[in-house]
Amino acid sequence: MNTNQKIIIVGAGLAGSLLSIYMARRGFQVAVYEKRPDMRTEEMSAGRSINLALSHRGIRALKRAGIAEQILQEAIPMKGRMLHSVEGALTFVPYGKDDSEYINSISRGGLNMALMNIAESYDNVQLFFNEGCESVDFVHKTLQLKNAQTGETQEVKGDIIIGADGAGSAVRTAMAQVLKSRTDFKNSSEFLAHGYKELTIPPGPDGSFLIEKNALHIWPRGSYMLIALPNLDGSFTCTLFFPNEGENSFASLDTTEKVAAFFKDTFADAVPFLPNLTKEYFENPTGLLGTVRCYPWHIEDKAVLLGDAAHAIVPFYGQGMNASFEDCIDFDQCVEKYGNEGWQQVFEAYQTKRKQNSDAIAQLAIENFYEMRDGVAEPAFLRKRQLERILENKYNDYHSKYSLVTFNPEISYAEAHERGNRQNEFLLEVCRKVESIETLDVDQIYAELKEAIG
Ligand SMILES: Cc1cc2nc3c(=O)[nH]c(=O)nc-3n(C[C@H](O)[C@H](O)[C@H](O)COP(=O)(O)OP(=O)(O)OC[C@H]3O[C@@H](n4cnc5c(N)ncnc54)[C@H](O)[C@@H]3O)c2cc1C
Repeated sequence: MNTNQKIIIVGAGLAGSLLSIYMARRGFQVAVYEKRPDMRTEEMSAGRSINLALSHRGIRALKRAGIAEQILQEAIPMKGRMLHSVEGALTFVPYGKDDSEYINSISRGGLNMALMNIAESYDNVQLFFNEGCESVDFVHKTLQLKNAQTGETQEVKGDIIIGADGAGSAVRTAMAQVLKSRTDFKNSSEFLAHGYKELTIPPGPDGSFLIEKNALHIWPRGSYMLIALPNLDGSFTCTLFFPNEGENSFASLDTTEKVAAFFKDTFADAVPFLPNLTKEYFENPTGLLGTVRCYPWHIEDKAVLLGDAAHAIVPFYGQGMNASFEDCIDFDQCVEKYGNEGWQQVFEAYQTKRKQNSDAIAQLAIENFYEMRDGVAEPAFLRKRQLERILENKYNDYHSKYSLVTFNPEISYAEAHERGNRQNEFLLEVCRKVESIETLDVDQIYAELKEAIG
């Protein structure tokens, strides 16, 4: 493939920045247009997903660019879920079969800035900020941009256009206009009846952690939950996932007294660590939780979507960024494999591989919402987790659903979804019938599981 071609990437978020590195390493001329100011030089507004869980799929993508070690130096390992009961009792449920399997809490801004710095270290990458894509002319492969500071507009031309401009993608919107007459066309955004709001547990004295550092904390409460992820400075970013409407909801908790009373009753052990609770509750934005599904992901050999622009998902598996990074790997592999046949072949192959997997992780993420919200507090779930740990340690070929999704990137999301759900149903059934897993014959359960699922 002729690497003198110019690739335009719309969006210098997590996926766009990583992809620009991959494409630069292949020798292409890469121009990235980002709507927002440069976060490395300007203060960005807080209140939206300050930290993220980075796991094996995302790490694999960083390794491909040779930057995993550097990035992981700024991450905090989270070895399991720390469940907080209403009474304040703590139960630690490990994520993996042993201490080597964990997920990582990482700063979104820190990661994004590191990726931008690495991208700009290549002579053939240019990042442009405050340049929002307004529309796309796919016939001429041009982008109409508007500068957010000067209001000036300009048109830029590339050999291909990659829309990595997130859940509200302008490139996807422009593509939909062209593709809408196709019978297989799809472009939907489905929102949960829940939203989210970020709150902060500040650091303790000398930057100490006031609750367990190496865990993802969850306060599961049926139709809502609070979670907390650690930050390097000793603070935790908490996220309240809460109904938008109804008896206990963002709509009903509309005074400081109601918020304070609700938290005291529901999340009592968290309250002493949330000194700015009511201020943050009213000042921080309430975010939407939605799933974007669209098809096709490309227009001929001209433009293609990647990351949240193609498949935004709800955040309950901690996989949106990881899946977007996996898109970058698969796109890069398709360039390598089909590049000589032209961009249309590359886009087709990439779409075929990723669409089924992004549909699977979208579904997994919705299912995990219900599991985290109420499932993890059910005694049979805790017994199942204990049993799974024994199975995982005894049999190398057994992986829990969570492990298939999170720690086994060589297994696709589609396979992890199918296999994980069948295993879960089987083991939950077993664990609902007993009071303690000590009475179970683990070897027999493994044999039956193999027989039933393979
Ligand atoms: C509350 C919450 C928690 C999450 N937690 C996790 C987690 O723990 N683990 C995980 O893996 N994922 C998580 N995610 C998902 C993750 O944030 C996304 O999947 C990831 O950011 C997708 O990367 P992206 O580059 O595709 O999109 P984005 O990161 O959204 O980047 C898109 C970029 O495009 C720019 N842009 C937008 N419109 C235009 C335009 N018209 N012109 C030019 N530029 C434009 C934006 O400014 C932005 O910089 C979470 C999401 C949320 C909301």
